[in-house]
Amino acid sequence: MTIKHNKVLLTGASGFIAIHTLKLLLERGYTVKATVRSQAKGQYLLDKFPGQPIELAIVEDIRVPGAFDKTLEEDKEITAVLHTASPFFTAKEDPLNELLIPALEGTKNILSAIKKHAPQVTSVVITSSFAAILDPSKLHDHSTVFSESTWSPITWEQATTDLSTSYRGSKTFAEKEFWRFIKEESPNFTGTTVNPPAVFGPLLQDVPSVDRLNTSNGLLYHGVFNPKDGNDFNSTPHIWVDVRDVALAHILPLEKPELAGKRLFVTAGFFSLQSVLDIVNKDFPELQGKIPVGEPGTGLSKVPNVYQIDNHVTNELLGIKYHTLEETVKDTFKTLIELKNKVDK
Ligand code: NDP
Repeated sequence: MTIKHNKVLLTGASGFIAIHTLKLLLERGYTVKATVRSQAKGQYLLDKFPGQPIELAIVEDIRVPGAFDKTLEEDKEITAVLHTASPFFTAKEDPLNELLIPALEGTKNILSAIKKHAPQVTSVVITSSFAAILDPSKLHDHSTVFSESTWSPITWEQATTDLSTSYRGSKTFAEKEFWRFIKEESPNFTGTTVNPPAVFGPLLQDVPSVDRLNTSNGLLYHGVFNPKDGNDFNSTPHIWVDVRDVALAHILPLEKPELAGKRLFVTAGFFSLQSVLDIVNKDFPELQGKIPVGEPGTGLSKVPNVYQIDNHVTNELLGIKYHTLEETVKDTFKTLIELKNKVDK
């Protein structure tokens, strides 16, 4: 492996995906400038990775014009940027301010700061999402194939008026802005996006209470520990990927020039909550009787007419051997059980 970058700027470094990315950057020998919203969040990272080459920059709100200017103006050693910071939850009442503006303005702000202050930056990776790929009206159409070349058809009007679609809009419009910037503003850097579906994996970030759990791991936590009455555990087939594979997909574009200009659709395939329950019941016998069993062994078999995926382009480019669902669920639940025990005390 050739390290072509000395110092990497990682935005939103205290988040679930970002902290795994930080860990892997350090393991691969990079120095990391980590943006966090507060000194306390930065201190958590310094304590988590003692003695490691982490420098902090406080960026309280990525929406503010010029949010990243000072950081990039002051540090000319940064030659690559990984932009992960963006809100990930369902909008409560104000999709524009809760989701769309932070995602879009955050992306514009990081790109303009690089262009203005950091001509030495040659590689930029943005965390986009499967949300920018999928068309929700086709989820039960088996002839539909989602791939690196598929785009969400969401409109700005839908995203600003229908709360259930706003997150999808935030990722789609932010990613479109990224590719527009690269095409029209001819910056010095090449760009890559990482487009994961539901990301699961062990908690490394600070989670003081269950309501602060990141959204995707929250699906597993609540699906297993707080299931709704009459839940059909096979009803929502979705695709997933391990957070450690997502972290690697963010870093490989810094090391492999052939990943420039690509959308990396990283996924290990389909899962249902039933398949998760089967693994948790098997691997954590102490939970038996305390969590549902559903209909063991039925996995995805009851779900009709699900869309297809084709991410062979990404897989060939990355050469990642994805974690299996069992590895991921096991490692994730070790930390989710610790969290549950802590909050139940
Ligand atoms: P987290 O909520 O753990 O991370 C989001 C990060 O963004 C946090 O560090 C958060 O800071 C920061 N952030 C959000 N809004 C702002 C803001 N206005 N100003 C400054 N920082 C902000 O979630 P994930 O790690 O899951 O998400 C990381 C990225 O991955 C996002 O871009 C998300 O859209 C994308 N993604 C996630 C998937 C998943 O299943 N987890 C799937 C596909 C894409 P703080 O916590 O301090 O508010």
